[in-house]
Amino acid sequence: MSLTDLRDLRRDEIAAFLAAQGELDFRARQVCQWVYKRQATSVQQMTDLPEVLRQRLQKQMYVSTLSLLRRQRSEDGTEKLLFGVEDGNRIETVLIPRGDKRTICVSTQVGCALGCRFCLTAQGGLVRSLRPAEIVGQVLHFQEPGREPARDFTNIVFMGMGEPLDNFRGTVQAVRIMTADWGLGISPRRITVSTSGLARRLEAFGRADLKVNLAVSLNATTDAVRSRIMPINKAYPIDRLLQACRDFPLAVRQRITFEYVLLRDVNDSLADAKRLVKLLHGLRCKVNLLPFNEIPESPYRRPADDTVQRFWTWLVEHGVSASVRQSRGRDISAACGQLRYAEQSAARLTAPEG
Ligand code: SF4
Repeated sequence: MSLTDLRDLRRDEIAAFLAAQGELDFRARQVCQWVYKRQATSVQQMTDLPEVLRQRLQKQMYVSTLSLLRRQRSEDGTEKLLFGVEDGNRIETVLIPRGDKRTICVSTQVGCALGCRFCLTAQGGLVRSLRPAEIVGQVLHFQEPGREPARDFTNIVFMGMGEPLDNFRGTVQAVRIMTADWGLGISPRRITVSTSGLARRLEAFGRADLKVNLAVSLNATTDAVRSRIMPINKAYPIDRLLQACRDFPLAVRQRITFEYVLLRDVNDSLADAKRLVKLLHGLRCKVNLLPFNEIPESPYRRPADDTVQRFWTWLVEHGVSASVRQSRGRDISAACGQLRYAEQSAARLTAPEG
Protein backbone atom coordinates (compact mmCIF):
# COMPACT_ATOMS: atom_id res chain seq x y z
CA MET A 1 0.00 0.00 0.00
CA SER A 2 1.39 3.40 -0.92
CA LEU A 3 1.76 5.94 1.88
CA THR A 4 -0.12 9.26 1.97
CA ASP A 5 1.95 12.42 2.27
CA LEU A 6 0.75 14.43 5.27
CA ARG A 7 1.85 17.63 3.52
CA ASP A 8 -0.79 17.00 0.83
CA LEU A 9 -3.57 17.23 3.38
CA ARG A 10 -5.65 19.94 4.98
CA ARG A 11 -6.42 19.91 8.69
CA ASP A 12 -9.98 18.61 8.13
CA GLU A 13 -8.64 15.75 6.02
CA ILE A 14 -6.12 14.82 8.70
CA ALA A 15 -8.88 15.07 11.32
CA ALA A 16 -11.16 12.78 9.28
CA PHE A 17 -8.38 10.23 8.95
CA LEU A 18 -7.67 10.33 12.69
CA ALA A 19 -11.36 10.22 13.60
CA ALA A 20 -11.67 7.01 11.62
CA GLN A 21 -9.01 5.62 13.99
CA GLY A 22 -11.02 6.73 17.01
CA GLU A 23 -8.81 9.76 17.73
CA LEU A 24 -10.12 13.09 19.00
CA ASP A 25 -9.96 16.29 16.96
CA PHE A 26 -7.09 17.89 18.92
CA ARG A 27 -4.74 15.24 17.52
CA ALA A 28 -5.20 16.83 14.08
CA ARG A 29 -4.05 20.15 15.52
CA GLN A 30 -0.97 18.46 16.96
CA VAL A 31 -0.15 16.77 13.66
CA CYS A 32 -0.55 20.06 11.73
CA GLN A 33 1.75 21.79 14.22
CA TRP A 34 4.40 19.19 13.53
CA VAL A 35 3.96 19.12 9.77
CA TYR A 36 3.64 22.84 8.99
CA LYS A 37 5.02 24.82 11.94
CA ARG A 38 7.81 22.63 13.23
CA GLN A 39 8.48 21.04 9.85
CA ALA A 40 8.85 17.51 11.15
CA THR A 41 10.15 15.18 8.49
CA SER A 42 8.92 11.95 10.02
CA VAL A 43 5.98 10.75 12.08
CA GLN A 44 8.41 9.51 14.75
CA GLN A 45 9.44 13.12 15.49
CA MET A 46 5.89 13.91 16.65
CA THR A 47 6.75 13.19 20.25
CA ASP A 48 3.55 14.46 21.86
CA LEU A 49 1.56 11.78 20.03
CA PRO A 50 1.27 8.45 21.85
CA GLU A 51 3.73 5.88 20.57
CA VAL A 52 0.93 3.55 19.51
CA LEU A 53 -0.65 6.28 17.37
CA ARG A 54 2.71 7.12 15.79
CA GLN A 55 3.17 3.46 14.93
CA ARG A 56 -0.26 3.34 13.31
CA LEU A 57 0.23 6.64 11.46
CA GLN A 58 3.58 5.55 10.16
CA LYS A 59 2.06 2.55 8.43
CA GLN A 60 -0.12 4.87 6.31
CA MET A 61 1.42 8.34 6.33
CA TYR A 62 4.75 10.04 5.80
CA VAL A 63 6.11 13.57 5.39
CA SER A 64 7.80 14.42 2.11
CA THR A 65 10.68 16.86 1.72
CA LEU A 66 12.34 18.49 -1.27
CA SER A 67 16.05 18.06 -1.73
CA LEU A 68 17.96 21.18 -2.63
CA LEU A 69 20.25 20.32 -5.55
CA ARG A 70 21.58 23.70 -6.46
CA ARG A 71 21.37 27.32 -5.38
CA GLN A 72 22.56 30.19 -7.54
CA ARG A 73 22.72 33.84 -6.60
CA SER A 74 22.57 36.58 -9.20
CA GLU A 75 24.42 39.90 -9.04
CA ASP A 76 21.09 41.64 -8.37
CA GLY A 77 20.40 39.36 -5.38
CA THR A 78 17.93 37.05 -7.15
CA GLU A 79 18.37 33.46 -6.04
CA LYS A 80 17.39 30.39 -8.00
CA LEU A 81 16.92 27.07 -6.29
CA LEU A 82 16.72 23.76 -8.04
CA PHE A 83 14.90 21.10 -6.02
CA GLY A 84 14.68 17.38 -6.59
CA VAL A 85 11.33 15.70 -5.93
CA GLU A 86 10.74 12.08 -4.94
CA ASP A 87 10.43 10.66 -8.45
CA GLY A 88 13.69 12.28 -9.58
CA ASN A 89 12.11 15.23 -11.39
CA ARG A 90 13.48 18.70 -10.81
CA ILE A 91 11.67 21.94 -10.10
CA GLU A 92 12.75 25.54 -9.77
CA THR A 93 11.95 28.16 -7.19
CA VAL A 94 13.18 31.75 -7.39
CA LEU A 95 13.62 34.26 -4.58
CA ILE A 96 13.42 37.81 -5.92
CA PRO A 97 14.40 40.78 -3.73
CA ARG A 98 12.76 44.06 -4.80
CA GLY A 99 13.03 47.03 -2.46
CA ASP A 100 12.05 45.86 0.99
CA LYS A 101 10.13 42.88 -0.44
CA ARG A 102 11.39 39.38 -1.00
CA THR A 103 9.14 37.38 -3.30
CA ILE A 104 9.17 33.62 -3.77
CA CYS A 105 8.22 32.45 -7.24
CA VAL A 106 6.94 28.87 -6.99
CA SER A 107 6.47 26.21 -9.66
CA THR A 108 3.25 24.22 -9.97
CA GLN A 109 4.18 21.70 -12.64
CA VAL A 110 7.22 19.91 -14.03
CA GLY A 111 7.22 21.43 -17.51
CA CYS A 112 4.06 22.89 -19.00
CA ALA A 113 1.48 21.86 -21.58
CA LEU A 114 0.54 25.33 -22.78
CA GLY A 115 3.37 25.82 -25.25
CA CYS A 116 3.82 29.61 -25.11
CA ARG A 117 6.32 30.32 -27.85
CA PHE A 118 8.52 32.67 -25.83
CA CYS A 119 8.93 30.30 -22.87
CA LEU A 120 11.66 27.78 -22.16
CA THR A 121 9.54 25.65 -19.85
CA ALA A 122 7.22 25.00 -22.78
CA GLN A 123 9.96 23.31 -24.78
CA GLY A 124 9.84 20.00 -22.96
CA GLY A 125 6.03 19.85 -22.71
CA LEU A 126 4.28 18.77 -19.53
CA VAL A 127 5.89 16.03 -17.46
CA ARG A 128 3.43 16.13 -14.58
CA SER A 129 1.62 18.40 -12.16
CA LEU A 130 3.08 18.89 -8.71
CA ARG A 131 1.33 17.64 -5.62
CA PRO A 132 0.24 20.26 -3.06
CA ALA A 133 3.09 19.09 -0.80
CA GLU A 134 5.63 19.82 -3.53
CA ILE A 135 4.27 23.35 -3.99
CA VAL A 136 4.04 24.07 -0.26
CA GLY A 137 7.49 22.54 0.27
CA GLN A 138 9.06 25.25 -1.92
CA VAL A 139 7.74 27.89 0.48
CA LEU A 140 8.53 25.96 3.66
CA HIS A 141 12.15 25.99 2.57
CA PHE A 142 12.20 29.74 3.32
CA GLN A 143 10.39 29.51 6.63
CA GLU A 144 12.34 28.76 9.73
CA PRO A 145 10.85 25.80 11.63
CA GLY A 146 9.03 26.71 14.80
CA ARG A 147 9.37 30.47 14.33
CA GLU A 148 6.36 31.51 12.33
CA PRO A 149 7.14 35.22 11.84
CA ALA A 150 10.78 34.42 11.02
CA ARG A 151 10.27 34.14 7.30
CA ASP A 152 12.76 34.83 4.62
CA PHE A 153 10.09 36.26 2.29
CA THR A 154 7.20 38.70 2.14
CA ASN A 155 5.23 37.59 -0.93
CA ILE A 156 4.55 34.46 -2.96
CA VAL A 157 3.80 34.37 -6.67
CA PHE A 158 2.65 31.28 -8.56
CA MET A 159 4.63 32.17 -11.67
CA GLY A 160 7.35 29.54 -11.88
CA MET A 161 7.27 26.49 -14.10
CA GLY A 162 3.82 25.39 -15.20
CA GLU A 163 0.33 26.83 -15.50
CA PRO A 164 -1.17 26.93 -11.98
CA LEU A 165 -4.75 26.50 -13.19
CA ASP A 166 -3.79 23.49 -15.30
CA ASN A 167 -2.91 21.99 -11.91
CA PHE A 168 -6.14 23.25 -10.42
CA ARG A 169 -6.47 20.88 -7.49
CA GLY A 170 -2.81 21.12 -6.52
CA THR A 171 -2.83 24.91 -6.68
CA VAL A 172 -6.07 25.38 -4.74
CA GLN A 173 -5.02 22.91 -2.05
CA ALA A 174 -1.55 24.47 -1.75
CA VAL A 175 -3.08 27.95 -1.36
CA ARG A 176 -5.45 26.65 1.32
CA ILE A 177 -2.53 25.12 3.24
CA MET A 178 -0.41 28.26 2.87
CA THR A 179 -3.15 30.61 4.07
CA ALA A 180 -4.68 28.57 6.91
CA ASP A 181 -3.85 29.28 10.55
CA TRP A 182 -3.07 25.60 11.03
CA GLY A 183 -0.85 25.71 7.92
CA LEU A 184 1.69 28.37 7.01
CA GLY A 185 -0.51 31.25 8.17
CA ILE A 186 0.33 33.53 5.22
CA SER A 187 -2.15 36.28 4.33
CA PRO A 188 -3.83 35.60 0.94
CA ARG A 189 -3.12 39.25 0.09
CA ARG A 190 0.54 38.31 -0.07
CA ILE A 191 -0.09 35.56 -2.61
CA THR A 192 -0.57 36.02 -6.36
CA VAL A 193 -1.69 33.25 -8.69
CA SER A 194 -0.89 33.80 -12.34
CA THR A 195 -2.66 32.25 -15.31
CA SER A 196 -2.05 32.28 -19.03
CA GLY A 197 -5.73 32.35 -19.73
CA LEU A 198 -7.58 29.13 -18.93
CA ALA A 199 -10.85 31.06 -18.77
CA ARG A 200 -13.08 28.22 -17.53
CA ARG A 201 -10.65 27.30 -14.78
CA LEU A 202 -10.38 30.97 -13.90
CA GLU A 203 -14.12 31.06 -13.29
CA ALA A 204 -13.85 28.01 -11.03
CA PHE A 205 -10.88 29.58 -9.29
CA GLY A 206 -12.99 32.65 -8.56
CA ARG A 207 -15.67 30.42 -7.07
CA ALA A 208 -13.07 28.80 -4.79
CA ASP A 209 -12.92 32.24 -3.12
CA LEU A 210 -9.33 32.04 -1.93
CA LYS A 211 -8.96 35.84 -1.75
CA VAL A 212 -5.52 35.76 -3.36
CA ASN A 213 -4.36 38.22 -6.01
CA LEU A 214 -4.75 37.34 -9.66
CA ALA A 215 -2.28 37.94 -12.48
CA VAL A 216 -3.11 37.22 -16.11
CA SER A 217 -0.46 36.77 -18.76
CA LEU A 218 -1.99 38.69 -21.70
CA ASN A 219 0.95 39.51 -23.99
CA ALA A 220 -1.00 40.57 -27.08
CA THR A 221 -3.91 42.75 -28.15
CA THR A 222 -5.21 40.81 -31.15
CA ASP A 223 -6.29 37.18 -31.32
CA ALA A 224 -4.10 36.64 -34.36
CA VAL A 225 -0.91 37.60 -32.52
CA ARG A 226 -1.93 36.04 -29.20
CA SER A 227 -2.82 32.72 -30.81
CA ARG A 228 0.57 32.75 -32.53
CA ILE A 229 2.57 33.27 -29.34
CA MET A 230 0.16 31.58 -26.89
CA PRO A 231 -1.72 28.64 -28.44
CA ILE A 232 -4.15 28.57 -25.48
CA ASN A 233 -5.72 31.65 -27.07
CA LYS A 234 -7.33 29.45 -29.74
CA ALA A 235 -9.40 27.80 -27.01
CA TYR A 236 -10.00 30.99 -25.00
CA PRO A 237 -9.72 34.11 -27.15
CA ILE A 238 -9.03 37.52 -25.64
CA ASP A 239 -12.71 38.55 -25.28
CA ARG A 240 -13.57 35.33 -23.45
CA LEU A 241 -10.56 35.68 -21.16
CA LEU A 242 -11.28 39.31 -20.34
CA GLN A 243 -14.91 38.47 -19.60
CA ALA A 244 -13.71 35.88 -17.06
CA CYS A 245 -11.49 38.61 -15.59
CA ARG A 246 -14.43 41.02 -15.34
CA ASP A 247 -16.40 38.33 -13.50
CA PHE A 248 -13.55 37.47 -11.12
CA PRO A 249 -14.45 38.40 -7.51
CA LEU A 250 -12.17 41.18 -6.28
CA ALA A 251 -11.96 42.71 -2.82
CA VAL A 252 -12.47 46.46 -2.47
CA ARG A 253 -8.95 47.64 -3.22
CA GLN A 254 -7.83 44.61 -5.19
CA ARG A 255 -6.81 44.86 -8.86
CA ILE A 256 -5.94 42.26 -11.47
CA THR A 257 -2.38 42.44 -12.78
CA PHE A 258 -1.98 41.93 -16.51
CA GLU A 259 1.47 40.73 -17.47
CA TYR A 260 2.62 41.82 -20.90
CA VAL A 261 5.92 40.46 -22.21
CA LEU A 262 7.14 42.93 -24.82
CA LEU A 263 8.56 41.19 -27.89
CA ARG A 264 10.27 43.31 -30.50
CA ASP A 265 8.11 43.86 -33.63
CA VAL A 266 5.53 41.34 -32.39
CA ASN A 267 3.40 43.11 -29.78
CA ASP A 268 5.28 46.30 -28.91
CA SER A 269 3.81 48.87 -31.35
CA LEU A 270 1.93 52.01 -30.44
CA ALA A 271 -1.14 50.45 -32.09
CA ASP A 272 -0.83 47.62 -29.53
CA ALA A 273 -0.66 50.11 -26.68
CA LYS A 274 -3.79 51.84 -28.01
CA ARG A 275 -5.67 48.54 -28.32
CA LEU A 276 -4.57 47.52 -24.84
CA VAL A 277 -6.05 50.68 -23.35
CA LYS A 278 -9.39 49.88 -25.05
CA LEU A 279 -9.35 46.20 -24.05
CA LEU A 280 -8.77 46.99 -20.39
CA HIS A 281 -11.36 49.74 -20.23
CA GLY A 282 -13.49 49.38 -17.10
CA LEU A 283 -11.33 46.64 -15.56
CA ARG A 284 -9.79 47.28 -12.15
CA CYS A 285 -6.26 46.43 -13.13
CA LYS A 286 -2.66 47.37 -13.57
CA VAL A 287 -0.21 46.32 -16.26
CA ASN A 288 3.29 44.96 -15.80
CA LEU A 289 5.35 45.46 -18.93
CA LEU A 290 8.17 42.93 -19.14
CA PRO A 291 10.76 43.56 -21.86
CA PHE A 292 11.62 40.06 -23.09
CA ASN A 293 14.54 38.36 -21.38
CA GLU A 294 16.41 37.06 -24.43
CA ILE A 295 17.13 33.34 -24.29
CA PRO A 296 19.15 31.04 -26.51
CA GLU A 297 17.27 29.26 -29.29
CA SER A 298 14.43 31.79 -29.18
CA PRO A 299 13.42 33.76 -32.28
CA TYR A 300 12.20 36.67 -30.15
CA ARG A 301 14.12 39.80 -29.26
CA ARG A 302 13.90 42.45 -26.62
CA PRO A 303 12.46 45.79 -27.78
CA ALA A 304 14.58 48.94 -27.70
CA ASP A 305 14.29 50.97 -24.49
CA ASP A 306 12.56 53.89 -26.24
CA THR A 307 9.92 51.50 -27.65
CA VAL A 308 9.22 50.27 -24.11
CA GLN A 309 9.08 53.85 -22.86
CA ARG A 310 6.65 54.89 -25.61
CA PHE A 311 4.38 51.90 -24.87
CA TRP A 312 4.38 52.62 -21.14
CA THR A 313 3.75 56.36 -21.66
CA TRP A 314 0.70 55.69 -23.83
CA LEU A 315 -0.81 53.46 -21.15
CA VAL A 316 -0.32 55.82 -18.23
CA GLU A 317 -1.39 58.88 -20.21
CA HIS A 318 -4.63 57.09 -21.01
CA GLY A 319 -5.49 56.12 -17.48
CA VAL A 320 -3.99 52.62 -17.26
CA SER A 321 -1.75 52.04 -14.27
CA ALA A 322 1.44 50.47 -15.61
CA SER A 323 5.01 49.71 -14.65
CA VAL A 324 8.04 48.33 -16.44
CA ARG A 325 9.63 45.35 -14.75
CA GLN A 326 13.19 44.59 -15.68
CA SER A 327 14.02 40.89 -15.74
CA ARG A 328 15.74 39.82 -12.58
CA GLY A 329 18.61 37.43 -12.29
CA ARG A 330 19.52 37.64 -15.95
CA ASP A 331 23.05 36.45 -15.25
CA ILE A 332 21.69 33.21 -13.71
CA SER A 333 18.94 32.53 -16.28
CA ALA A 334 16.16 33.44 -13.88
CA ALA A 335 13.36 33.51 -16.44
CA CYS A 336 10.84 30.74 -15.95
CA GLY A 337 12.24 27.32 -16.68
CA GLN A 338 15.74 28.43 -17.51
CA LEU A 339 17.66 26.89 -14.64
CA ARG A 340 16.13 23.47 -15.17
CA TYR A 341 16.74 23.90 -18.87
CA ALA A 342 20.37 24.85 -18.25
CA GLU A 343 20.77 21.79 -16.01
CA GLN A 344 19.32 19.54 -18.69
CA SER A 345 21.53 21.06 -21.37
CA ALA A 346 24.55 20.55 -19.14
CA ALA A 347 23.44 16.97 -18.51
CA ARG A 348 23.11 16.44 -22.26
CA LEU A 349 26.58 17.82 -22.78
CA THR A 350 28.17 15.74 -20.06
CA ALA A 351 26.17 12.52 -20.36
CA PRO A 352 28.38 9.57 -21.31
CA GLU A 353 27.69 8.27 -24.78
CA GLY A 354 26.29 4.86 -25.26
S1 SF4 B 1 4.74 30.94 -20.02
FE1 SF4 B 1 3.84 29.80 -18.32
S2 SF4 B 1 1.94 28.92 -19.21
FE2 SF4 B 1 3.21 29.56 -20.94
S3 SF4 B 1 4.36 27.68 -21.47
FE3 SF4 B 1 5.63 28.89 -20.03
S4 SF4 B 1 5.18 28.02 -18.03
FE4 SF4 B 1 3.52 27.39 -19.42
